[in-house]
Amino acid sequence: MTRKFICLFLFGFEILIIMLVAVSTARAQSSHQTFAVVAPPNCQNNDGEIVRFENRSSQTAKSAAGMAKNDDNGQPVIYRFSYERSPAALQNFIDLHECAHHQTGDIDLPHPPRNSPAHMMNESIADCIATLRIRDETEDGASRINDAAQALTAAMEIVGFPKLTIDSRISNINNCRLKDLSAADFIDGVLVHRGLK
Ligand SMILES: [Zn+2]
Repeated sequence: MTRKFICLFLFGFEILIIMLVAVSTARAQSSHQTFAVVAPPNCQNNDGEIVRFENRSSQTAKSAAGMAKNDDNGQPVIYRFSYERSPAALQNFIDLHECAHHQTGDIDLPHPPRNSPAHMMNESIADCIATLRIRDETEDGASRINDAAQALTAAMEIVGFPKLTIDSRISNINNCRLKDLSAADFIDGVLVHRGLK
């Protein structure tokens, strides 16, 4: 019996949503900026199934957040929480990060223990695939990656992540953007390594 993989964006802490809500409650009325919600990207899982995107809104969330899973009917889905709370570049990055968990088969594998090296590796891989897709599929990809990294840093600071965690995540993104391979090649490598291809 395998547990369903659930990634909550910003390093997958289940506590995150609670934190986002708690942190923001006091300032909910005054400081919320609202952004237009972007169209989701194309996304298929490692079995070639189309991944569905669903918007979920919260009155008190401080930042956009995402979750990748298979729904109760076994259909791949990405829940987009409060995307109106974050700029377009971060919305897009979260979509692509969550999509990467579907593309690499994370969703069908047992979930590694929280914060274990294996878990952090899954998160780094998902960030890397998102970065490569923005670089190669977006007009002016380099500056879109910069925008996403900046918004991600701001969101993680608001939630209270340690500077070291934030720096390491941004450093991974900046290393990935220099990779001499496409997102598709990178995903193939992960699937082969995992025996899924
Ligand atoms: Zn993730």
